[in-house]
Amino acid sequence: MIDDDVRTRIREKLEQELDDVGRRLEALRDEARTQEAESGGDNTPLTEAADAAHVVEERENSMQVFGWLIDRSESLNTALRRLDDGTYGICESCGNPIPAKRLMARPEATMCVDCQEEHDRRQGIPSSPPPSPGASPLG
Ligand SMILES: [Zn+2]
Repeated sequence: MIDDDVRTRIREKLEQELDDVGRRLEALRDEARTQEAESGGDNTPLTEAADAAHVVEERENSMQVFGWLIDRSESLNTALRRLDDGTYGICESCGNPIPAKRLMARPEATMCVDCQEEHDRRQGIPSSPPPSPGASPLG
């Protein structure tokens, strides 16, 4: 079980992140609207026309970010709901408690480390990030 102190801190984290995600979604929507409006006219200055390819690339990029933010806000909402109904911190795969340390680092986690790794492996996501250029595995 998670004690009340940890629960309170996790709730704060979740609400803060949800707030942040909401603001970023708003910003992306505004940006998309602005771009739509700007791409309508034929009076685009030369400097901006040269950037057209870059804008398309950027738009694809923000679609990805948009999808990611939607996913994230869903995870955060699920975590908050689970906090309310008392199932928060229980691995939804094996039913074991998720360590508080993991929950503090990833408040939206719904699985323990083992199940998450298993899940990621099945999805083809590497469990650990590639080694950074500075770090040599040989020491
Ligand atoms: Zn598990």
